[in-house]
Amino acid sequence: MMKPRYFIQTFGCQMNVHDSERMAGMLDGLGYDATSAPEDADVILMNTCAVRERPEHKLYSELGRLRRLKQSKPNLVIGVAGCMAQREANTIRARVPEVDILLGPRALHHLPHLVRNAQQKLNADGLDLECDPTPVTPVRRASTISAYVDIIFGCNFKCTYCAVPSARGREVSRPPGQILDEVRQLCDLGYREITLLGQTVNAYGHDLAERRADGSRHDFASLLEAINAISPELRVRFTSPHPMYFTQHLIDVIASTPSVCEHLHLPLQSGSNECLKRMKRTYSWEKYRSVIESIREKVPGVAVTTDAIVGFCGESEAEFSETMRAFEEIRFDQAFMFAYSPRHSTESWAWEDDVPAPVKTRRLRELIERQNEIAREKNRERIGERVQVLVEGLSQGNAARVCGRTRQNKLVMFDGDLEAFARGSLAEVQVREGFLWGFVGEAVPTAQAPRASRGPRLVLELPVIG
Ligand code: SF4
Repeated sequence: MMKPRYFIQTFGCQMNVHDSERMAGMLDGLGYDATSAPEDADVILMNTCAVRERPEHKLYSELGRLRRLKQSKPNLVIGVAGCMAQREANTIRARVPEVDILLGPRALHHLPHLVRNAQQKLNADGLDLECDPTPVTPVRRASTISAYVDIIFGCNFKCTYCAVPSARGREVSRPPGQILDEVRQLCDLGYREITLLGQTVNAYGHDLAERRADGSRHDFASLLEAINAISPELRVRFTSPHPMYFTQHLIDVIASTPSVCEHLHLPLQSGSNECLKRMKRTYSWEKYRSVIESIREKVPGVAVTTDAIVGFCGESEAEFSETMRAFEEIRFDQAFMFAYSPRHSTESWAWEDDVPAPVKTRRLRELIERQNEIAREKNRERIGERVQVLVEGLSQGNAARVCGRTRQNKLVMFDGDLEAFARGSLAEVQVREGFLWGFVGEAVPTAQAPRASRGPRLVLELPVIG
């Protein structure tokens, strides 16, 4: 008999991507198979984002499509998960009564019983939005080489443009034993790289009652050290840290911990102190710059990437030029740049969105153009250097080339095939050309035999008391 099938559509950031991996793992556990064709699915979940997308428009147009699909397939279960489900639950129910399940980001582990209930038509309202976000759930990982690991949920900041606190609630750290056990499992399965996830990932631990053996608090630095003790060869990344949680001790630990990659993604948002104040980012440009200076001093060759918003409420031409100047001064390796647009459930939603659209567009274009020049220049400066590449697979555009990433998270392509350079193996590559997107290079023979990744896609995170 054919198994029932599910389709998940994901919008937004790495946290949403990993939430979708968790939902896929739970549906696998219920005996479902994944499908890439929504029309073949018995359960369709939309995992929504209130931060990076134009949420209302996308969600309701997708739901309109699903509503028509349900007319021809009445047993189809439609679910909306993520930030929009949390924030817009009543509106979604009123506008699209065909939605069977609404699932907030803190309640993902309730998915199995909600799906069962929806299928049995027993569920009164299919709504499950709030609860402890830390329970262990199975995960169907998209990669056999790199894995996301949640370490802290929610956010205690109140940035005036951001819908995350209203959607994901206050910070809740996962118990360290649970995280370390997941990392051990990933290492046993052959994963070579993990990315620790949290809206404010370096706030980790402050809310935990549990203490370390010496009586001190768990924090992000101690977690990095504990992960390194499991496997110093693992590549460890993290996103996104907040400048206010960067201490000199954390920078020293990052510098002295071999597994932590030489890449820091640190959102700046604006180079203007006045604008940062209106955004309630809680740091100044000077504080931000001092974190970058310290990290560059302690971690030679570190790549620094960022996020920035242009055209925030009240942003003057002078304030925008301070962002341009900040980009000039820091010389980021890469940046994700956006024009401000108001989001529901944020403080700035009520403010006048007073920078005209053409001005926002022009500022964004200027910032992107300058940043692209800087990124290109920085990558060209690396020509001739040797870099260590974690092989991810064949290049999509050129099957005679292998691609992977450096510890600085730069994309690298070089001639070869997967027999010589297995997925998950490390290759030494000499950089021949530098581009905006990364490098083209040449593999350099090494004594080390390629090591293949061997993880199966379904991983069960087991609970550990620790
Ligand atoms: Fe949003 Fe600010 Fe929290 Fe980041 S730190 S998730 S921007 S409120």
